[in-house]
Amino acid sequence: MKKTLFIATLGIASCFLFSCSNNKKVLYKEIPKIDAHVHIRTTDTNIIQAAMAENFKFLSICTRSNSRENIDKQLYFAKKMHEQFPQVLSYVTTFSMENFEKPGWRQEVIRRLKKDFEEGAIGVKIWKDIGMTFRDSLDNFIMIDDPRFDAILDFIADNNKTLVAHIGEPKNCWLPIDSMTVNNDKIYFREHPQYHMYLHPDYPSYDDQINARDRMLSRHPNLRVVGAHLGSLEWNVDELAKRLDLYPNFAVDMAARICHFQVQDRQKVRDFIIKYQDRLLYGTDFSIKEDDDLQEKKDRMENVWHADWKYFSTDEEMNSPNVNGSFKGLNLNEKVLRKIYFLNAKKWYPGIL
Ligand SMILES: [Zn+2]
Repeated sequence: MKKTLFIATLGIASCFLFSCSNNKKVLYKEIPKIDAHVHIRTTDTNIIQAAMAENFKFLSICTRSNSRENIDKQLYFAKKMHEQFPQVLSYVTTFSMENFEKPGWRQEVIRRLKKDFEEGAIGVKIWKDIGMTFRDSLDNFIMIDDPRFDAILDFIADNNKTLVAHIGEPKNCWLPIDSMTVNNDKIYFREHPQYHMYLHPDYPSYDDQINARDRMLSRHPNLRVVGAHLGSLEWNVDELAKRLDLYPNFAVDMAARICHFQVQDRQKVRDFIIKYQDRLLYGTDFSIKEDDDLQEKKDRMENVWHADWKYFSTDEEMNSPNVNGSFKGLNLNEKVLRKIYFLNAKKWYPGIL
């Protein structure tokens, strides 16, 4: 009895001593967290130490399907880091689109995926180059619902692995730069005109990309799919909610799209996250290469982690270089935070860490 009273008194006292945000700061250090969308292309273990100091683990994602050579380079770093730190870094592989229309392409992809799974990959990434870059011999864009992918997607599902799907782009990609809703999209598409679809009206539309992905989801109900970057439905939580309702096999990571929450109605976003708290995975899209300045990258990574935590966990007024004007944090409770930062990654990526 005395003990209970003591704890209760202590609880009240700590409320006076620490503000709510201070409690959340303590929680940040305490709870295990997974950054479920990073690209680690270095063997410098300092980046792993930095993550461990913040109680973070990594899911490193191999990406781009244009060449086997490029994929093997990424796998080299992923495997090396995973071998050294099996409890801190897990990884996802990808497959090459080289020789897509040649006989034996599918068998070769499956053979390689089998090897990658045996060596430790826990999923397979597909990138926006499917839908935006690759064309077949008839000059048609190859979309993700192309039946030639079916056997590969079945193979991933049969092996209880997860598909990470970055299909399409933010809706901003189809708008002129001045009309884009967040500043990081403006910068990215200014620097990458080849992917700025507003400049390529003859390419598949935003809806074409989303519809192809949705058809793929409905045709493969047993395939677990994590839509990267809020599943390219970052611009409207209602649209994203529709897909989460329609496809129980679908979850999304929030990598590099949290700013799109910050420009939508706060209450609506908060209600959405609480309702779909089992389907959202935290991620940043942090990337590091061998010749990068590690200290600079590490500082940037920690700043993003801290700012995102503040946004999700407190109700403080905030600013971000990605967003014009201020916005308020979502003040999510501990149960929801533990899910989006850790438990959902465990659930949607069996075999992680
Ligand atoms: Zn990425």
